[in-house]
Amino acid sequence: MWNYSTEYDVIVVGGGHAGCEAAHAAAKMGARTLLLTMNLDSIAKMSCNPSIGGTAKGHLVREIDALGGIMGKMADRSSIHFRMLNASKGPAVRSPRVQVDKHLYSQEMKQTLEKIPNLEIKQGTATFLVSKDQKCIGISTLEGVTYLGKCIVITTGTFLEGKIFMGHTTFTGGRLGDMSSVGLSASLVEAGLTLGRLKTGTPARIHKRSIDFSTLEEQEGEEGFFSFDEKEKKCEPRSCHITYTTEETKKIIQENLQKSALFSGLIRGVGPRYCPSIEDKIVRFAHRDRHQIFLEPEGIHTDEYYLNGLSTSLPLEVQVKFIRSIPGLENAEIMRPAYAIEYDWVTSGQLLATLETKKVQGLFLAGQINGTTGYEEAAGQGLVAGINAALQAMKRPPCFFHRSESYLGVMIDDLITKEIDEPYRLFTSRAEHRLLLRQDNADLRLRPLGFQLGMISQAQMDKVQDKRQKIQAEKKRLSTLYVSLEGKSIPLFQLICRPDYNYEKMIREFPLLMIDYGKEINEQIETELKYAGYISRQEKDIVKLENLEKVCVPKSFSYKDVLGLRNEAKEKLSRFSPPTLGSASRISGITPADLSILLVALQKKHKENIL
Ligand code: FAD
Repeated sequence: MWNYSTEYDVIVVGGGHAGCEAAHAAAKMGARTLLLTMNLDSIAKMSCNPSIGGTAKGHLVREIDALGGIMGKMADRSSIHFRMLNASKGPAVRSPRVQVDKHLYSQEMKQTLEKIPNLEIKQGTATFLVSKDQKCIGISTLEGVTYLGKCIVITTGTFLEGKIFMGHTTFTGGRLGDMSSVGLSASLVEAGLTLGRLKTGTPARIHKRSIDFSTLEEQEGEEGFFSFDEKEKKCEPRSCHITYTTEETKKIIQENLQKSALFSGLIRGVGPRYCPSIEDKIVRFAHRDRHQIFLEPEGIHTDEYYLNGLSTSLPLEVQVKFIRSIPGLENAEIMRPAYAIEYDWVTSGQLLATLETKKVQGLFLAGQINGTTGYEEAAGQGLVAGINAALQAMKRPPCFFHRSESYLGVMIDDLITKEIDEPYRLFTSRAEHRLLLRQDNADLRLRPLGFQLGMISQAQMDKVQDKRQKIQAEKKRLSTLYVSLEGKSIPLFQLICRPDYNYEKMIREFPLLMIDYGKEINEQIETELKYAGYISRQEKDIVKLENLEKVCVPKSFSYKDVLGLRNEAKEKLSRFSPPTLGSASRISGITPADLSILLVALQKKHKENIL
């Protein structure tokens, strides 16, 4: 083993979606960073769908961008089809989503990372965690090199002891075409971590020329961007198309169920319930006569189409049969088969709110390895882990993300307080205060934190302060202006709250009174006025909850010594070691009575420490 000469502040293992964001954040904050990944040609590769965003995931991408991360910018540059999902619903659930040119996305990410001064990128496969006295100090590779670092962020995705399934055919792999990561799991177990198995699946990709588009419903994209800063697109837009499974599809799948790796019991790992395979859907929703399928182009430099909604672990010959039973796909030519993958993950209860492991100091985990699924969830965790690894390496205090401030906070809190029994993905319903955590105000919520961390420039900060100031001033101004309508004098701020009015209509009807600040600011003013009552109620709820969040639980606190605390509560609290009483309240099975007892014990401990 050869010891590499440089000692890094932060070493990120894995150049997927979590790894790229972690490496970028750590380096941008001034930490000397190494991104070590198995294959430099697959940086930020999209293992599954060629798209970024979607319900709640789009919120995460906007938050990452607001904090100075890169996923949103890369998605904009490579975007070929943008849509604001739930546009007709309330502002809390509107979420941007883009189809991207997946090769361009990876290429843009690699080029962007290559230009970051503090960041070195190297090809290598990590096999062994080097640690001393429960603190990690480096990572050794298959190629015979040891890299030393103060903090290590592991983001190995679906690769740890990855096993691929296509019907009864199985082989090892991190995803189709990539080798699995062997050895690192054992090293993590040796360091004291507990691992489990999860699974996920992906559909087939077919050739564009084999699709009969004439019978399909077309869905065009819209204008829109993720990033609050640059507005750059490098690709021409492309449409998506919609089709449906048929009775024949159902029959073929039902007849071949025993050939599915999932149904024959070959796969032990648990898969995502909300993103089921087609065989799963046919069995669970047997009464449904059809399922919607989106045909999504994988880019402008390829003819591959992704069949969204048809993920399966059935063998290739059955895939060909059932895909050809779908209108428009009668002559489908499969270029890449669908498959399922099973992999190791680090089970719940082993992480702190910084995504550092409780057992090994300086070891951070982010992405699929923590039991999540999705590029955006991975990138969000990468950002949090990268920031905190850099802070620790530079001996600065940690940064916590709170549920009341961001979806990032919601996700991290869920990961550290909940028992995960299937791959975790974000939904808007997971957030208690979703009217405050809108995708459109992510910059107003999070830019100040990004600035404090050194991820956001003075110019970006000035821009958001100016925006905030304009919104506040305009809301005030609209409360002082009146118009005469239906024989009554009505203040403009009240008129905008009516369901039949919006900012655009107000500009049209009262051009001398209204000021057009542009879509972004106009929308904020309108939303803040229309939903003022709900927003202020949610803000009051947060203040109440903050009292619980303010009560910190010391890391070394011994729950087993708390008199009167139920054994189940002792076991759960010891396992998850929540950082605050607020986090403790969200652990399933913890009752208000447990919290009262805990509060008294913490107050007693606090007094003892003072005396
Ligand atoms: P990845 O993107 O997997 O990146 C891991 C990186 O680590 C890779 O670059 C790899 O080369 C590198 N690496 C691994 N081991 C080592 C090592 N030992 N040393 C150095 N480098 C290493 N998501 C969804 O949201 N919906 C889905 O339906 C879905 N289906 C999927 C189906 C399949 C078959 C697969 C493979 C993935 C699917 N995903 C799906 C998951 C999605 O790909 C991941 O959630 C996301 O990519 C996770 O990001 P990550 O950064 O954690 O890991």
